[in-house]
Amino acid sequence: MSDADCLFCKIVAQEVPAEVVHVTERTVAFRDINPQAPTHVLVVPRDHYENAAALAAGDPVASAELVTAAAAVATAEGHADYRLVFNTGAGVGQTVFHTHLHMLAGRPMTWPPG
Ligand code: 5GP
Ligand code: ZN
Repeated sequence: MSDADCLFCKIVAQEVPAEVVHVTERTVAFRDINPQAPTHVLVVPRDHYENAAALAAGDPVASAELVTAAAAVATAEGHADYRLVFNTGAGVGQTVFHTHLHMLAGRPMTWPPG
């Protein structure tokens, strides 16, 4: 289940390089190329789903694994506090249409997000 034109499918397939920090059966986590916090990691399912809701409907086990993988990376990097974000739709800033969970940590954060 991959899309030949999808950047994150290519990262999962190791056709595009990325700094991978954690892998599980269903997920791959790698550092964001344009980090918005001292720690900014993207956790993606190995299979191609356009957004978080599609993944949750199609593969709930992988959906849960995104969160547990993000928590494992936060713990491994010494962060008890972190923020998880799924952007869904171009109108709120989604630019890559392969589900990805942002895990951001290492600085104070404001609420609501911009
Ligand atoms: P979105 O805006 O879709 O929620 O998040 C996409 C994220 O992917 C952005 O934070 C962006 O910096 C990151 N990104 C885009 N291209 C690449 C890339 O080639 N490699 C990595 N590691 N991150 C990327
Ligand atoms: Zn993809």
